[in-house]
Amino acid sequence: MLYYSTNNKQLKSGLKEAVINGLAADKGLFMPEEIPVLPPSFFEKLPDLTLGEIGFECLKPYFCPEIPEADFKLLTADAFNFDAPVVPVSENIASLELFHGPTLAFKDFGARFLARVMARFTVGYGQDINVLVATSGDTGSAVANGFLGVDGVNVFVLYPKGLVSDVQEKQFTTLGQNITAIEVDGTFDDCQRLVKTAFMDEHLKDKITLTSANSINLARFLPQMVYYFYAYGQAIKQGKQNISVCVPSGNFGNLTAGLIAQKMGLPIKRFIAATNINDIVPKYLASGHYQPAPSIATPANAMDVGDPSNFVRIQELFKHDLTSLQTVISGCSVSNELIFSTINTVFHSYAYILDPHGAVAYHALKTALSKEEYGIFLATAHPAKFPETVEEIISQKVEQPERLKAFLNGEKCVKNSSNVYEELKQVVLSKAL
Ligand SMILES: *Cc1c(COP(=O)(O)O)cnc(C)c1O
Repeated sequence: MLYYSTNNKQLKSGLKEAVINGLAADKGLFMPEEIPVLPPSFFEKLPDLTLGEIGFECLKPYFCPEIPEADFKLLTADAFNFDAPVVPVSENIASLELFHGPTLAFKDFGARFLARVMARFTVGYGQDINVLVATSGDTGSAVANGFLGVDGVNVFVLYPKGLVSDVQEKQFTTLGQNITAIEVDGTFDDCQRLVKTAFMDEHLKDKITLTSANSINLARFLPQMVYYFYAYGQAIKQGKQNISVCVPSGNFGNLTAGLIAQKMGLPIKRFIAATNINDIVPKYLASGHYQPAPSIATPANAMDVGDPSNFVRIQELFKHDLTSLQTVISGCSVSNELIFSTINTVFHSYAYILDPHGAVAYHALKTALSKEEYGIFLATAHPAKFPETVEEIISQKVEQPERLKAFLNGEKCVKNSSNVYEELKQVVLSKAL
């Protein structure tokens, strides 16, 4: 499979180049040249397949034969080695729980897969690959844990000192091995600027191989397809039909993956794109005007995005035609007050604990759903990752899963850097060389 740039259909790259570079040479995003439809035999056996088996079948067209099939089978089984159950919450609504991975958020799917694909590409590369990532919380932990112990890859996680939650910080500062956490005296924007500067620093790039692991990388968003198929298989087993899916969205990588699954033949009726008050996409779907804006902080902070980077991929899938987009996706923006009241109502009515991101999705789905539909929303993070918000609303403790406790008991180990680039560069070089 070749991958074209969203800026220029004629500019194509092979898999390895697309994964290692992340972005196309003209700064466009990579899209697969074609999206094959899976055969009826796949859908017949779907309800009985594991996540790993589904991953193998639906991702094979994109990653094989560049990765030999036998190896790819092992890779998908290993990357998707935790469950994603569909849990009924209320009458015609179920939660697709995507937080049973190592860092209790759905980003584990993409990060674990990306790490394993990249590790393959480092074999015979003759040099370590250095992943540089800036995080305001969740991305850093999923990427660091995805790459933990992967030979030939060093990971540097830059985060703003004092500005990530304790739970989040522990998930990437206690790992050691090939993971270096760098506590930056500055803001998240400083961290992003430092990473961007590093990618433009030819002197640094002469010395070491640099790559990024953010959600524009095709090997991070494509694997998110697996759980749409898996959820559908479970819903069919539970006797449901007419299935619509609600995706709590920030950079829109997750929704893009769902739309590609649909194009590959998955009979999802429609999607609801749920956002917090950063409502660029819902506004666009309603008015046809795409107006990026500075992001606004909300309790669903992993979705605080004012100019969603993957939205152009969705535009590509619909050939930039607003009307056809509107037939498949509807938008809904959810206020902070509604996030709080939804967590409260769902807990007291159905004894189900939502995290703030899941609450956005639940509310949007409930609002949009008709009587004939069965709705599944993506629960993208475990509520124990947001104890400050959730516990105050439900007036009780959220039980911490064992793997979260293990992080919290770990010892924090970080390198420090100011927000001056030269200092950051020395920290990276001292570890990478
Ligand atoms: C990253 C994230 C999202 C947003 O996903 P996108 O693919 O960027 O739309 C939603 N919920 C949680 C918990 C996240 O970490």
